[in-house]
Amino acid sequence: MSEAIIRLENVNKWYGQFHVLRNLNLNVARGERIVICGPSGSGKSTMIRCINRLEEHQQGRIIVDGTELTNDLKHIEIIRRDVGMVFQHFNLFPHLTVLENLTLGPVWVLKKSRAEAEATAMKYLERVRIPDQARKYPGQLSGGQQQRVAIARSLCMSPKIMLFNEPTSALDPEMVKEVLDVMVSLAEESGMTMLCVTHEMGFARKVADRVIFMDQGEIIEENTPDVFFDNPQHERTQLFLQQIL
Ligand code: ADP
Repeated sequence: MSEAIIRLENVNKWYGQFHVLRNLNLNVARGERIVICGPSGSGKSTMIRCINRLEEHQQGRIIVDGTELTNDLKHIEIIRRDVGMVFQHFNLFPHLTVLENLTLGPVWVLKKSRAEAEATAMKYLERVRIPDQARKYPGQLSGGQQQRVAIARSLCMSPKIMLFNEPTSALDPEMVKEVLDVMVSLAEESGMTMLCVTHEMGFARKVADRVIFMDQGEIIEENTPDVFFDNPQHERTQLFLQQIL
């Protein structure tokens, strides 16, 4: 494996008394695409939220592109610049147009000129196939279109890593495919490191280098999609796959 861009070493986290992440160890290679699945409540979301410090781990180490996540705000800032995140709910600013949503971070955080930020925004809106929606407000778009705007917004910050947390689970069924198609082409064309929590197993088979199965705060099994789906090793994985496939 080439150099790891994300490293988790014996990561543990508790919510009060509840031990939510148990001894997680994970190395993600630069450019690797990982799908994380597992039953609801197994800690998938908490794990990826720890990677950009939306949640804090209490034990172990998380190192992103050579920077360790500690309480040092400088480190958190460096890591947040490298890591883009797309959530289940799109979290767009409703009072700003699509173009304004996309240029906000680049102008205020990256200190880009408005013209440059708008050119980049249009490039990514084309990439997610909705350049014609640039002047609209989020409320005027479908859920699938809003999620594609959210993906474009992350890309405008030039992240090295993209984290997706159930990006299609809040969408009406007919909109799931358009978002997955955008994610597939992003995976295939950009070489970006991607971690995606999803139960979209077709997507996993198509793009994942590795599928990780979590249950009760632990990584139970990880494998290539072919082996994972066709020959799951662990009983809990087999049970999970029977329920969702
Ligand atoms: P998943 O993404 O696999 O559904 P989560 O990481 O969201 O799982 O949650 C793991 C467990 O931690 C669940 O039992 C959930 O209820 C609990 N949990 C999540 N967030 C919090 C929180 N802020 N405080 C207390 N418990 C939480």
